Amino acid sequence: MRVLLAASEVVGFAKTGGLADVAGALPRALARLGVDCQVVMPLFESCRRTGRCEQTNLRCRVPVGPGDGVEVEFWRSTLPGSAVPIWFISAGDMFNRDQPEFGRGLYQFSGTDGSRRDYPDNGARFALFARAALELPRMLNWWPDVIHANDWQTGLLPVYLREHLDNHPDPSIAAHSKNISTLFTIHNIAYQGAFPPSMMEWARLDWRLYNPLQLEFYGQLNFLKSGVVFSDQISTVSPTYAREIQTPWFGCGMQGVLVERASKLSGIVNGVDYDDWNPAVDRLLPARYDHTNYVTHKPQSKAALQVRMGLPGLADRPVLGMIARLVEQKGFDILRPAAQAFLSQGAQLVVLGEGDARHRQMLRGLAEQYPNQVGIYLGFDETLAHLIEAGSDAYLMPSQYEPSGLNQLYSLKYGTPPIVRSTGGLADTVTDTTEDTLQNGTATGFVFQDYSPEALRDAGLRAMKLWRNQPEKWQSVIQNGMRQDWSWSRSATSYLNLFNTMRHAH
Ligand code: ADP
Repeated sequence: MRVLLAASEVVGFAKTGGLADVAGALPRALARLGVDCQVVMPLFESCRRTGRCEQTNLRCRVPVGPGDGVEVEFWRSTLPGSAVPIWFISAGDMFNRDQPEFGRGLYQFSGTDGSRRDYPDNGARFALFARAALELPRMLNWWPDVIHANDWQTGLLPVYLREHLDNHPDPSIAAHSKNISTLFTIHNIAYQGAFPPSMMEWARLDWRLYNPLQLEFYGQLNFLKSGVVFSDQISTVSPTYAREIQTPWFGCGMQGVLVERASKLSGIVNGVDYDDWNPAVDRLLPARYDHTNYVTHKPQSKAALQVRMGLPGLADRPVLGMIARLVEQKGFDILRPAAQAFLSQGAQLVVLGEGDARHRQMLRGLAEQYPNQVGIYLGFDETLAHLIEAGSDAYLMPSQYEPSGLNQLYSLKYGTPPIVRSTGGLADTVTDTTEDTLQNGTATGFVFQDYSPEALRDAGLRAMKLWRNQPEKWQSVIQNGMRQDWSWSRSATSYLNLFNTMRHAH
């Protein structure tokens, strides 16, 4: 099995979100399963700055844009800690422009008023990336069975494959191309890459494709829709999110297109990197622990966390932890009223996050009202994130939506039962604690349905009651979670099964 994974960010080279973690970890896990995997991404300035990217003598003209196309060069490296090849596409200043110190990111820059704006040529940049990536198999004479495209930045790739390469004037290229199947993965449906119709010309796509059944979406060329319509299979990052995005509440307008392709749509939960997130090897904790000795060692993290957050070091108070970007998605508006209920019952609350002013203000208000019970840190702090996972008694994740989610998986491993809303990856990875699930050994956390303060409050109070009154049952919830395996090798096996069904099947 040969797989080419295309993504606009890969951890270790360029990152703005969870996509980069998937694009870095999945190919390494697939390689360990014996897949011949290579990766392709744009050569951003942040990639060059790693000092790990080497120029090669591979170069070509890509048939997009005016005149005789755009000249690109290929650079190369390997994914950190592996032999998996990663290729970078360089094209003048098309990709090479990110400079955080001047407010320039991968996709956006800061305007003079400080607001973030998309680069006006993002459509051209990622049309070029998608088309250029398809030159790689020919140049390497390495033909993948599957191309795995990710998010809107690669949405045109399956279109170019079927339109340009299947009809290539060189019959051997056309023959190879026709054997390639494509998987398109949606990591967050809120970002779709919609551009004016004139982008069809720049991208050199035939106008006959610009219709509501193919590339057009409400008067624009929509890259995400293009990927969905032209791929053999579509996946997203949890089975529940795959169902949710077919509904208006979650679908961001794309629900109809996805319902149409529902038989090809599936969900695979992202894995955890247990080299970084495992209390048995975590150097950021005062004492390491696993499921055999957490009873004696985990309290050291709790004590250290209480000191760090300026809270009284009381072992008999449950500490509820939360780490999240301070955005509406994460459920801060239902947290505030529910938190009052937890605090009035003696809990301590610890929150780490950076983001919107509205949520910062709410958290500051809570900390002022309950100085001995609430500890907040408004900023980004990796070390504190580890300490919160280990030192809390339970973890809060009341998200409105959560495509896959990582923190609930870390919490399971750290013996910190998660309190989650039943949505997306949270619904697929946490099992509510009931008499039945305690009995059959599947209980791992506390799950609530409605997005309301009352539902969150009830789940949290259930957790606190069990923690206080039934310590043996609490221990079995912890044990069940700590023993689970949410590693990348598990997710990679699911991807490989999907690739196997796709081979030569398009
Ligand atoms: P999302 O990708 O929507 O932000 P996830 O739960 O999937 O949510 O992943 C978030 C990741 O970012 C986790 O590793 C979490 O610990 C980390 N994180 C978020 N905010 C902070 C912060 N302020 N400081 C440190 N780590 C953070």
